[in-house]
Amino acid sequence: MFEKILIANRGEIALRIQRACRELGIKTVVVHSEADRDAKYVKLADESVCIGPAPSAQSYLNIPAIISAAEVTDAQAIHPGYGFLSENADFAERVETSGFVFIGPRAETIRLMGDKVSAKDAMKAAGVPCVPGSEGALPDDPKEIIATARQIGYPVIIKAAGGGGGRGMRVVHTEAALVNAVQMTRQEAQTAFGNPTVYMEKFLENPRHVEIQVLADQHKNAIYLGERDCSMQRRHQKVIEEAPAPHIPARLIARIGERCADACRKIGYRGAGTFEFLYENGEFYFIEMNTRVQVEHPVTEAITGVDIVQEQIRVAFGEKLRLKQRDVEFRGHAIECRINAEDPFTFVPSPGKIEFYHPPGGPGIRVDSHIYQGYKVPSHYDSMVAKVIAYGDTREQAIRRMRIALSEMSIQGIKTNIALHQELMLDARFVEGGTSIHYLEHKLAAKNEVKQ
Ligand code: ADP
Repeated sequence: MFEKILIANRGEIALRIQRACRELGIKTVVVHSEADRDAKYVKLADESVCIGPAPSAQSYLNIPAIISAAEVTDAQAIHPGYGFLSENADFAERVETSGFVFIGPRAETIRLMGDKVSAKDAMKAAGVPCVPGSEGALPDDPKEIIATARQIGYPVIIKAAGGGGGRGMRVVHTEAALVNAVQMTRQEAQTAFGNPTVYMEKFLENPRHVEIQVLADQHKNAIYLGERDCSMQRRHQKVIEEAPAPHIPARLIARIGERCADACRKIGYRGAGTFEFLYENGEFYFIEMNTRVQVEHPVTEAITGVDIVQEQIRVAFGEKLRLKQRDVEFRGHAIECRINAEDPFTFVPSPGKIEFYHPPGGPGIRVDSHIYQGYKVPSHYDSMVAKVIAYGDTREQAIRRMRIALSEMSIQGIKTNIALHQELMLDARFVEGGTSIHYLEHKLAAKNEVKQ
């Protein structure tokens, strides 16, 4: 096994990866910005290296600084976590050409999946069902664009090939608005992602977001670890995730899961990955693949007993997957609430010093967090400060345990969205299960109207 791994990330995921390494007997190097110098997880690592000032562009996205940190500490592999450089193919390539192992897929796979047009083409070829849409990128000719939209049927959505984080998308309801919308999306895509390529998809009106977790090794073995429902979203950002997805027949999951595992074998995928789908009327439609560990991986760990981060490390080292598909068992139900440092109703970020912290506990509760009393939440990064995961034999029990956990949890000195989660855990439609990706936005909009 590796002797030393460098963790190129921060916050809860840096701590999560550190724990996986320690369990495997691997030493850790954590890189950090000046803003994260005093964080406890940095002190807990075997070694730490400051790689630059607070802004991510100069630290967590600073490729030469991270590579030098690996060199001076003699690390053998680099774990990128999620966000930052985790899906940057150039980084993965630089890591490997500098003589380190990148804990993730090959750079060419990241590149293939990073472009949504090529990702969709590859998935179609591998037999994964996709949202009906244009054959690859949209041409410049307005006549052809109009013809494509007529064929697909309105509403359609124009999406940037290089888009991410919910940006670079535009819904079009009528032919009159089409050509202009394509042009605007192209311009925005060029400015935001440096790539003007756009494509067209049928806009699904009321889908759910259901994703499949996969694991693959370097010996063409691949398995799926079931699904997660991440439909509770605000501005395309996930707020609550759960596994399994309520009310979807197990045979449908098995069928789509097999397709994903098969696609991994076909494209020579390695490591952990997620196939994201929209799910509507019993059908799955592929939208994109994430080639890294996800924020919401703990709900899958809870129902399968598989440590996804440890498996990432093992397969990066070259080991064969220890599990066959028939060994994977799904037990119980798990829900994750993302606790953010923000106003629970206006969503304005709320960085600052945590004056008091009391984490929840008890049967079935897991808290993944790097915070503590006295910790200062920096203003430079994502506002997520903790993930609370509740596990139960049934979904009802998981919800009940989550309600108790949220009532115990206390974070003072900054604002958090705990109150929003408490409200959602009592929401009749959430409790029923199976809400669409628009549910939370509609609920919040309705509440605002009542206030005004
Ligand atoms: P990103 O990489 O920016 O997250 P995705 O392709 O994953 O982009 O889409 C993000 C979100 O946008 C989806 O979760 C869904 O809410 C919405 N979306 C994307 N494509 C469609 C579509 N064809 N129909 C309806 N909603 C869509």
